[in-house]
Amino acid sequence: MISAKDALQKLIDGNKRYVTGDNSLHTHKSDLVDGQKPFAVVIGCSDSRVAPEIVFDQGSGELFVVRVAGNVVGPLERGSVEYAVEHLGVQLVIVLGHTGCGAVNATLSELENPSQNLSHGLKSIVENIKPSVIAADLNIDEAIRENVRTSVKNLEFEGDVQVVGAEFCLESGAVTFL
Ligand SMILES: [Zn+2]
Repeated sequence: MISAKDALQKLIDGNKRYVTGDNSLHTHKSDLVDGQKPFAVVIGCSDSRVAPEIVFDQGSGELFVVRVAGNVVGPLERGSVEYAVEHLGVQLVIVLGHTGCGAVNATLSELENPSQNLSHGLKSIVENIKPSVIAADLNIDEAIRENVRTSVKNLEFEGDVQVVGAEFCLESGAVTFL
């Protein structure tokens, strides 16, 4: 089992490799057939530019990833994290938001100019993000970080498990821990 502190350092080092272009070439690991031992959980946005395995330069079996637009945490996402913590022994959980998040932007637009025909599914994401955008006084950059902090709060665990918020910068590729 890897401690939260060591797991965080592995992610910091991996993101450094990603930013500098010194990243690894990942190949299939057939020895993983017997089981997985990921060292961190990442709850990330579905945005195609923010794949956790790529931005943290980690291969198969290393990250337990939950992706959903706007990196929101509802019962299903929380259940996935609980599985990794309780059954796989993961001690570090990262909520990874990112600059220019379309889901947070869409929520801001909804608050400013509500649409009449938002689908049920999209509505549930927007409703989840709304309180963070309001708390950030409709400032998009702050709302993105507030939305990460909200997801962190929805993921409290006891014991040695650490939940950390982070923001990926689309421009630089760097991850800043909040
Ligand atoms: Zn996003």
